Amino acid sequence: MLGLYIRVLGLLKPNAALAWTLALANIALAAAQFAEPVLFGKVVDTLTRGDGRPDASRLATLLLLWLGFALFTILCGTLVALYADKLAHRRRQSVLAEYFEHVLTLPLSYHGATHSGRLLKVMLQGTDSLWGLWIGFFRDHLAGFVSFFVLLPLSLVMNWRLSLLLIALCAVFAGLTTFVMRKTEHLQSLVEDRYSELAERASDTLGNVALVHSFARIDAEVRGLRTVIDKLLAAQIPVLSWWAVVSVLTRASTTLTILAIIALGAWLNGQGLATIGEIVTFMSFATLLIDRLQGTVNFVNRVFMEAPRLREFFAVLDTVPAIRDKRGARALSHVRGRVEFRDVTFHYDDRRPAVEHLNFIAEPGEVVALVGPTGAGKSTALALLYRAFDPQHGAITVDGTDIRDVRIASLRGQIGVVFQEGLLFNRSIADNLRVGKPDATLDEMRQAATRAQALDFIERAPDGFEARVGERGRQLSGGERQRLSIARAILKNPPILILDEATSALDATTETLLMAALDEVMKGRTTFVIAHRLATVRRASRILVFEQGRIVETGTFDQLVNRGGTFAELARAQFLTPVLGTN
Ligand code: ADP
Repeated sequence: MLGLYIRVLGLLKPNAALAWTLALANIALAAAQFAEPVLFGKVVDTLTRGDGRPDASRLATLLLLWLGFALFTILCGTLVALYADKLAHRRRQSVLAEYFEHVLTLPLSYHGATHSGRLLKVMLQGTDSLWGLWIGFFRDHLAGFVSFFVLLPLSLVMNWRLSLLLIALCAVFAGLTTFVMRKTEHLQSLVEDRYSELAERASDTLGNVALVHSFARIDAEVRGLRTVIDKLLAAQIPVLSWWAVVSVLTRASTTLTILAIIALGAWLNGQGLATIGEIVTFMSFATLLIDRLQGTVNFVNRVFMEAPRLREFFAVLDTVPAIRDKRGARALSHVRGRVEFRDVTFHYDDRRPAVEHLNFIAEPGEVVALVGPTGAGKSTALALLYRAFDPQHGAITVDGTDIRDVRIASLRGQIGVVFQEGLLFNRSIADNLRVGKPDATLDEMRQAATRAQALDFIERAPDGFEARVGERGRQLSGGERQRLSIARAILKNPPILILDEATSALDATTETLLMAALDEVMKGRTTFVIAHRLATVRRASRILVFEQGRIVETGTFDQLVNRGGTFAELARAQFLTPVLGTN
């Protein structure tokens, strides 16, 4: 827990100078506050001493001192609080941005296994916790610690008998807090798990709202969410009850301590062992200390409640991307587009290889079609090319350079990917196109859109290029989404292109438009296409036939059909029949 707290404070490092200044100022402030009770006691003693005629000049000096201290603490206190707030807010946003960047660099395999809803929740709540702890650190925690180290020894010096009561009170607080922390630690981390589950589930359902509606699943989904909420509450309620017990017990012991100080003080005063002023000072000390103790319990409670959340946050931050730039990796540029797979084998986890002993060469400008049943390893093979994963054996080269020796960003800069399900941001069409080329002019975008057969539908909308496409482009049809992502690839103009053809059947017009768009985008690039259409396979200069992770045949369409092997069979089943049927 302490390690976690230190790490939280460590995140203030980029503003270390300001943070240290604030911390020291806080300690000074906390120390200055002890002056008040001491002065109070002295005032009382001055008033009660003598024979009814207090020493006026001494009294005036004391009151002036008191006023000075009070004004000083108020002014400094406000300044420190203001700067602490600003610092905490600023750091929170920077840490959030760092987390966001880190999460984006994590490989697809990580994102495949971790829901975006969970990552978002961890980001928002984690930075919220950090912010709360920083604010608390500057406002209360430091002052609390100072109190213990100054107040207790000071009170011991002033009157050790009364002081014992305060020490006993501290012991009670510490004991209770530790006990309850131990009792509820496990439950609290369960609560956090449930919160993550809740975020994941809610965002998953919202992301699939069309499915929810079409299967009339609103009730079922709400019920599912309620189940998670019930589990969350089942873990949360006992934790709350335990801390309520702490609250009752600590408050009760506070009242008892105050009463005991008065009783013991009166008795000591009778014995001549304590002055009235000392008793008054002690009462103030006790109030201050109790205030701090309660603050500390709240702080411990807070760290404790937030700990699982922070652990989750740090766990994501500590995930090291499996695929990183090698030390000294250079940029890949001026690519001609010769791609070679040399005995490439890759498996996800410990399972049977998804692809095995892949060997092939694609010459610059060639169109290579990958065909085969689903699950045969076609997408995996191409994901290896842009390093979504690295193969366990073998090597992939671009223009003779092993792709592990070049910077990932520069490799991906040379490869365009058109996904089966045209992936789009919830931004304007122009913004989505500029993903391919950030500085593209409207003219360039229009040209690309024309070549991708997308200009017509873009200009049909009243906002044209400024029209928003909705979350994941849901305001467009499947064919439109695809043509937009083809236009995006044309703008990027990469020497190597990966195309995952849509499997869904399109109407004849859209199909024609799409084929024309594809012809445009493939021109002059080494293209790998996961082919589902006869027309595409026919256009390919080479066909790789995949079966269970291996390439079982290669050749041109005619060669393979004449061979009468796997491809010929596949072509009959997969390509020829449906296409002939629709003709
Ligand atoms: P294809 O593109 O030919 O349909 P894939 O490359 O998608 O085939 O899949 C090859 C094999 O790898 C399949 O058995 C599939 O279940 C498995 N696979 C694909 N993606 C993943 C993944 N992200 N994690 C684990 N296994 C996967």
